Amino acid sequence: MKKTGFTTTALNVPYAKHDPHKALQMPLYESVAYEFDSAEQIEANFRGEYIAHVYSRTASPTVEYFELKLKALTQSSGVIAVSSGMAAITNTIMALTKTGDNIISGNRLFGHSFALLQNTLSEFGLETRFSDLSSAEEIEKLIDKNTRAIYFETVTNPQLDIADIEMLSRVAKKHNLVLVADSTITPPNVFSGGKFGVNIEVMSTTKYISGGATSFGGAIVDHGNFDWNRNPNTASYTEKFKDNAFLIKVRKNVYRNTGGSMAPQTARFQIQGLDILELRVEKCYQNCLALGEFMKAHPRIKKVSYPGLETDERYPLAQKYFNGIPGTIMSFELESKAACYTFMNKLQIIRRATNLNDNKSLIIHPHSTIYAEFTEEERIAARINDRMMRLSVGIENVDDIIADIEAALK
Ligand SMILES: *Cc1c(COP(=O)(O)O)cnc(C)c1O
Repeated sequence: MKKTGFTTTALNVPYAKHDPHKALQMPLYESVAYEFDSAEQIEANFRGEYIAHVYSRTASPTVEYFELKLKALTQSSGVIAVSSGMAAITNTIMALTKTGDNIISGNRLFGHSFALLQNTLSEFGLETRFSDLSSAEEIEKLIDKNTRAIYFETVTNPQLDIADIEMLSRVAKKHNLVLVADSTITPPNVFSGGKFGVNIEVMSTTKYISGGATSFGGAIVDHGNFDWNRNPNTASYTEKFKDNAFLIKVRKNVYRNTGGSMAPQTARFQIQGLDILELRVEKCYQNCLALGEFMKAHPRIKKVSYPGLETDERYPLAQKYFNGIPGTIMSFELESKAACYTFMNKLQIIRRATNLNDNKSLIIHPHSTIYAEFTEEERIAARINDRMMRLSVGIENVDDIIADIEAALK
């Protein structure tokens, strides 16, 4: 088929198998197990010669369709859907490493990702070497013979810094490391990791892809651009599974055995989420631009941060990697913490909540919440002050969001 635009593609990805009713929406297959016609057919399935669903912890039809759709939309070689963003990250790192190995990671991460690397996986003998990932030289100093991957977030939150992805890709290639990007903030209609040398993308599909905070999910996307012989923990899978070595290892040796499968109901929501993803992102982006102009002109707003604004110093990187749309999260500052609280408490349309990329606009004061467990020194190092708020911009009519902010600033 001719290459089509993002939404057209989303709406026309074929099912893996013919639907007997020709249903236009992928049905919700809620079944634990699937029947075979004969003992011989089951045997053929277990030998890998007859492909069919067996038991839904490993794979199921509705989840499989979500995976196929996301595969088409990321133009990748394969996708595994899991129960949450954290499950996607955990499964990926467990498949790439073993006890005694290390990875290099950005030091400004989603809080639970940081905790996973720092506290959880370290107890199983995986070391994480944190870096701000701004200098190839500094990164290379951290690499040794047991380093397996470089892990980073495309856009950090709430700082909204953009990774130097091409530099990271050069370093990763030179040292046979897998380049893993958490691209949650920059969904597949604005970011194609494979184009910039990212090998594996992990996503919290809970955010944008769920279609508006409908359900928890995660995805692992393999761009098919890493030779899995070069990682000692995937090499033994390459003879039999070739380019699929990594995803097969995830599915057979990590995901299935650790039990983090996506529920079919979730997949149903998220399939719909992909159909309307581009529309929603575009609307949120237009709202961000209008809000940016409004905020810059307002005398009480001290600082507005959104790398999608032409005046932002990170705008050229936003253009290069994300077609100018570096996600749709903004931050801004008032004169004091007390002013932020008064402002937040007056809001009528923007909701006070921690989530991102809902259909609703959500606001939070990071210093007192997401960074509550940090020392003041650590917060300063992460550029978090108590005058700053994070706004995840929704799809409301922008005049109403602006009016809400204007009234709350009075
Ligand atoms: C939310 C988030 C996660 C974790 O995803 P869950 O679906 O909540 O498990 C990971 N990374 C980033 C960047 C996120 O925003």
